[in-house]
Amino acid sequence: MFFLFIKSKILSPLVTLLLLFPLPVLLWAGSSDEDLQQLTAVTHVHSYVSAARHPSLHAVASLAEKKDVDVLVPTDHFLKKWEYGFDPLPGILRVWSYKACVLKFGVPSYLSIIDKIQTPDLMTMPGLEITPEYSFSGHPARGQLVVHNSQKHLLVYGLTKKEDIVSLPVMSNPHAGEWDWTKIILPFLAVVSGLALMVRWPAGLLVVVFGLFWMLNQRPFHRLPVMEESVHGTEYAFSQHLIDYVREKGGWTVWAHPASTKEEKTRKYFRSVYKQTDPYPQALLKTTGYLGFGSSLLSDDEVIGAGGVWDQVLTEYAAGQRSAPVWCFAEQDCGEEAGVGLDIYQARNVLWVKKKTKSSVSEAFQKGCFYPTMRHRQGPGLNLKKWLIVSQDQTALSGGKVIWRPGAQLKVLLDRKKTFKITIIQNGSVWMTFQGWEKSVTVPLPKSRALLDYYRVLIETNNIDSNKSYIIVTNPIFVTM
Ligand SMILES: [Zn+2]
Repeated sequence: MFFLFIKSKILSPLVTLLLLFPLPVLLWAGSSDEDLQQLTAVTHVHSYVSAARHPSLHAVASLAEKKDVDVLVPTDHFLKKWEYGFDPLPGILRVWSYKACVLKFGVPSYLSIIDKIQTPDLMTMPGLEITPEYSFSGHPARGQLVVHNSQKHLLVYGLTKKEDIVSLPVMSNPHAGEWDWTKIILPFLAVVSGLALMVRWPAGLLVVVFGLFWMLNQRPFHRLPVMEESVHGTEYAFSQHLIDYVREKGGWTVWAHPASTKEEKTRKYFRSVYKQTDPYPQALLKTTGYLGFGSSLLSDDEVIGAGGVWDQVLTEYAAGQRSAPVWCFAEQDCGEEAGVGLDIYQARNVLWVKKKTKSSVSEAFQKGCFYPTMRHRQGPGLNLKKWLIVSQDQTALSGGKVIWRPGAQLKVLLDRKKTFKITIIQNGSVWMTFQGWEKSVTVPLPKSRALLDYYRVLIETNNIDSNKSYIIVTNPIFVTM
């Protein structure tokens, strides 16, 4: 017996039969994935562009090549600028910290170096890590000023035009937003009234000066639409605006490390300025139009575990409340302090593509035709050769969809035998769990009960009793009636 069948809501005699006699019954049907190749992509990798202690982009690329990475997506911080405005003129009386980042380095240089470090074996694509919005609490005069959400990050991919990147609608980006003349109507009237008063009353100059300060304080140049009172203060307004902007320009966004607790504690930034960012798994539910989220796979049960935030988002999609599903991306970087060493290449995304071209890679990411995996230090990683659902003559790969037909089967094939625990999630709940020493699992699928069912798989190898350390997490496949 190859598998120890642990738990099943639907343990039909057929399932038992299939498990008892796997080989004759579980032959792989000829499927459309046969002509696809697998590529390894590593995303969210930092370089010296956004932190001096990181290696150069060239060094990052040569390390990636040594580690058999096919696609490298450097993802440096776009803008590391925090501005604080003092009352009563926060638009004028401002202090700021502006650190190494892509905007400071130069967007054209960043794009050009990333393009040049490509080799015949290593494809590169530019990425950016972005803090769409931040806020302050406390006051410098009281000895404690805390910057909140500076580590709440969206990753932006697929933008290649300099002008689209430079004007990304991000708080404190001097190139973002538009001139808004409506903001200076009242200050302008004050200046005009002051000038009229000055004809008879020299003290009218004070009104003119007041009007001019008021005008500057409004910061009418490069105003982001989300700064308007109607949405300002609305949670995620800036993030949603950025997501929409990137989509409009042909790129896509991924929430970075939403469940990370690394920045939860208030930490000193410099002098009496501190930083603090709460985990933000709710961002996945409160925003739409983003492509996915990053996970380290190791401690993200709240997001990727059965019934977690990801399942809530997928359930919304299956119920027609969301226009697109979202995918899980492997990422190891969980903050600025994480260096780029050998370990960074443990977090890999394995894509199924027809050809090794940038458009195929982009397409695989966008369609969810990939799986995130965490390669542990001991020995070679475990790879997923197949993850698909076959329903008579249709085959859906990761991220795809099939219409249910009698005999529909879900298939998982690993590249080698290894002790593992495999959990199949159906519509957000644990559906089946297998534990054993085998390469493949094939399960007949029941008739779809909802308009749209979805299945995804979690695979653990090392800590077999723990459900918090996954080595492979598949993106879902959908089954419709
Ligand atoms: Zn980050």
